[in-house]
Amino acid sequence: MHQPSTEPRRSIYYDYQVHEPWRPSQHGQQPRHQVVIAGGGPVGLTAALELARHGVPCVLLESELQVSEGSRAIVFTRRSMEILQQVGVAHRVMQHGLPWRFGNSFYRGQQVFRMEAPHDDNDRFWPMINLQQQFLEEFLVDACKAHPLIELRWGNRVTGLVQHEGHAEVVVDTPEGPYTLETEWLVASDGARSAIRSLLGLQLEGASYEGRFVIADIRIDLPLPTERLAFFDPAWNPRNTVLMHREPLNVWRVDYQLPEGETPEEALAPESLKTRINAQLEMIGHGGKAWEMDWCSVYSARTLTLPDYRAGRILFIGDAAHLLPIFGVRGANTGFQDAQALGWRLGLVCSGQAPERLLASYSQERVGAAREIIDEAGKSTRFMTPPSRGFRLLRDAVLSLSLTEVFVRPLYHWRTSRPHEYTGSTLNSAGDDNALFHSGPAHGAPPANVRLGADDFLLDHLGGGFDLLVFATSVPADVQATVKNWQAKGLKLRVLLIGQWIGQGAQFPGADACLPDTEGRARARWGVTTDGAAYLLRPDQHVCARWMALDADRLHAALKQATTGVAP
Ligand SMILES: Cc1cc2nc3c(=O)[nH]c(=O)nc-3n(C[C@H](O)[C@H](O)[C@H](O)COP(=O)(O)OP(=O)(O)OC[C@H]3O[C@@H](n4cnc5c(N)ncnc54)[C@H](O)[C@@H]3O)c2cc1C
Repeated sequence: MHQPSTEPRRSIYYDYQVHEPWRPSQHGQQPRHQVVIAGGGPVGLTAALELARHGVPCVLLESELQVSEGSRAIVFTRRSMEILQQVGVAHRVMQHGLPWRFGNSFYRGQQVFRMEAPHDDNDRFWPMINLQQQFLEEFLVDACKAHPLIELRWGNRVTGLVQHEGHAEVVVDTPEGPYTLETEWLVASDGARSAIRSLLGLQLEGASYEGRFVIADIRIDLPLPTERLAFFDPAWNPRNTVLMHREPLNVWRVDYQLPEGETPEEALAPESLKTRINAQLEMIGHGGKAWEMDWCSVYSARTLTLPDYRAGRILFIGDAAHLLPIFGVRGANTGFQDAQALGWRLGLVCSGQAPERLLASYSQERVGAAREIIDEAGKSTRFMTPPSRGFRLLRDAVLSLSLTEVFVRPLYHWRTSRPHEYTGSTLNSAGDDNALFHSGPAHGAPPANVRLGADDFLLDHLGGGFDLLVFATSVPADVQATVKNWQAKGLKLRVLLIGQWIGQGAQFPGADACLPDTEGRARARWGVTTDGAAYLLRPDQHVCARWMALDADRLHAALKQATTGVAP
């Protein structure tokens, strides 16, 4: 019998709430569900909200009775915020988080590089915002609880699974014993040690790195800005790397690499933690300051992915699908993109508006994204923790050269998590004018945000269904008719007219919304050079077609391809 802990987890800054378990005896016979999600971490919770947004009810099974132990993911990217905006929690992250955009790298005590992440007046969100994972999960849980289409079952652990034609049978253990659930689709978001992956006998592919880090959260009052600090080869930890990040509530994340051969038990011994953290504080000029430990753990990087995120009726997302190094903040940030990419497709399949084969494009796009990340993250991981003598020699050469040679210094900057461009997606329109544009978001790219007013941005108006963004003075009659046809079939599709000539509150026939672009920023950022140009965006806001001049036939073909994965 599954007995999740009822003791609140220990933390000096976060009050854990222990939720009541969902008990099968208090509920009647279970119907067959359309979607069950296993795992209520940040990615599973986001997936539930995404599905609900697309009108699909789901049951969300969470093994524990409380949110994440320790801060874990603390850095969320702009794209994650744009996704969280879509599911209604970005404003809470903004209220509590610490935004930032600079990173500083030091080599043997000397600052050798200052990274500046691009930030534009057209962006609603900062490049990065720091918030402990517990808070984010709490905000997502609140949003799930408030949504009538989501049933969150705490203390429900998936322990068994049988797949049938058209559905899966899931065995769920609870504090009062097991029960069985039937579902048409099971979304596996049960984390790095996914039981579902094991039950299906699936293997992750990729590499694991030897270099180990202590991850420690301490509470300390440091008069330093919110910027990433990276120290290579510091005097107190020679040949190794140390990272520091500010978190809300005067909490600091200190990550330091361990000397080769040291065991996790040795590393987490209180005396060892105290000596090393004191040495780090001493080095940055704050030795002797009082601090308190909140949470610590030992971490080593892995770059692993499943080769396919669909296995029959099971769809994998988040850490259950891939394990990515935390350098470059890739874990949760990548998972949010999975949840968003799956949500709308599964929504269309469940409502009968798209064939099951649309889900193949989810796996193709997101496995492709994971492989790209693995390639990039492998480079940063090898720089942070060189896996062999050769890599160390190379890294040390870069480090030494950087003291005198300015051109070497940008090599310190490992790439951080970024939104993926599904350039080769089967959903990208085969017959549009993508190649004719010289700039603007291309096939598969996420949208470029644009400030339309003091507190009004283009992305505030996009998402949830397909969006046709028309840069023209009117919507052609044949395009209006095609849009109406698709809407009549149940597809969520909106037409947004955007332009300099559009006044506040204007209305045009065939347009669901009219967006004033008084300074012509949208036109410039989206690479529009002709009146009548248009973009078609998928419900996850990625571009699937763009035209210099839109016509009804090409719009119809693009929608057909984006909802089936097959060019008509
Ligand atoms: C020290 C550390 C620092 C990190 N820093 C960052 C960072 O700065 N930025 C970033 O993006 N990522 C970071 N990550 C990674 C990030 O925490 C994970 O990628 C993220 O939590 C993955 O979310 P998830 O929902 O896929 O899985 P998880 O958060 O692991 O959630 C899985 C959920 O499933 C539940 N569960 C497990 N088994 C079952 C079952 N059989 N049945 C039902 N429920 C089950 C678990 O209780 C859990 O709630 C960090 C991770 C660590 C360890």
